[in-house]
Amino acid sequence: MSPEKLVRPEILALTAYQVPEAQGMVKLDAMENPYPLPPALRRELAEALSRVDLNRYPEPTGRRVRELLARRMNLPAGMELLLGNGSDDLLQIITLAVARPGTTMMYPAPSFVMYGMNAALCGMKAVAVPLREDFSFDAGAFLVRMKSERPELVFIAYPNNPTGVLYPEEDVLRVIRAAEGLVVLDEAYHVFAGRTFMQRLGEHPNLVVLRTLSKLGLAGIRLGYLAGRPQWIEQFNKVRQAYNVNVLTQAAALFMLERLEVLEEQAARIRTERAVLGAALAGLPGVTVFPSQANFFLVRVPRAERTYEALRRQGVLVRNLHPGLRDCLRITVGTPDENRILLTALQEAL
Ligand SMILES: *Cc1c(COP(=O)(O)O)cnc(C)c1O
Repeated sequence: MSPEKLVRPEILALTAYQVPEAQGMVKLDAMENPYPLPPALRRELAEALSRVDLNRYPEPTGRRVRELLARRMNLPAGMELLLGNGSDDLLQIITLAVARPGTTMMYPAPSFVMYGMNAALCGMKAVAVPLREDFSFDAGAFLVRMKSERPELVFIAYPNNPTGVLYPEEDVLRVIRAAEGLVVLDEAYHVFAGRTFMQRLGEHPNLVVLRTLSKLGLAGIRLGYLAGRPQWIEQFNKVRQAYNVNVLTQAAALFMLERLEVLEEQAARIRTERAVLGAALAGLPGVTVFPSQANFFLVRVPRAERTYEALRRQGVLVRNLHPGLRDCLRITVGTPDENRILLTALQEAL
């Protein structure tokens, strides 16, 4: 019996998520916060983690983490949180909970690859509605399509990945109001955009807000959270693997949420650097920079494939989105030093 005969055709058709080797590279491919924690804080964290009982199962719902997150992230009264092993876990949980034969997921495209990946895994139809040429959101076209497809699930990344574009609030509201299904607003980059629908959860029974600590500086611990009405959380909680957030992640999250200002200060530095890098990139001949409210830029260059390889040879790793996105690279905002190295390398690589 070969796997090809047994495994579902839609799985056979997928390719596993690829992560290139990054050892020794200036790593600007994955929207990570480039700043390490201060040494004193690292020692304190090590001390906190040393007290964790690794022989015990975690508290299944991460109660203390949820309570602290609710306070630190201003969860509105009456709303609840569900924790995930990264927000990737929560995206899968939501999709699994809703998917039935004949159900439909809709999202503007290009967007986060995991939406469509989960649709394929769970047997949902995925309808990807194209953004405009400049990657702005065509709300009119989206609403027309929603009317005919009547999707059970709508995903909107706010701001969007891989474009960095933040859609107008009014356009997102139109989608939420018109949707017959659940709208998942994916706010993975909210610290860089300064915009959120969190405070509007009470107004829209069909809205949930998805967040992650990854882009804020804790990608390694894998912690995402979903905010919404208790009725949604109750159902999604049944799909969650019983111990999806491990004891070390819970302890590290508790420690860092008590010291959130460290990460917020780093995010503020990234926002400042974003402006500097954006202007410098836009000044390079032949480079188009799309407006970003996230911690990365989507750029169009004359020959993306060649430029990507040339950057790599010079020790700079970015994300190559070509050919899916014609001649586009996605570049994470790094430290001032990393950004300088990138710009120098890019001038030669174009
Ligand atoms: C990075 C990203 C995620 C996944 O974040 P994790 O919490 O690390 O799994 C989800 N949505 C969008 C739009 C992202 O860019």
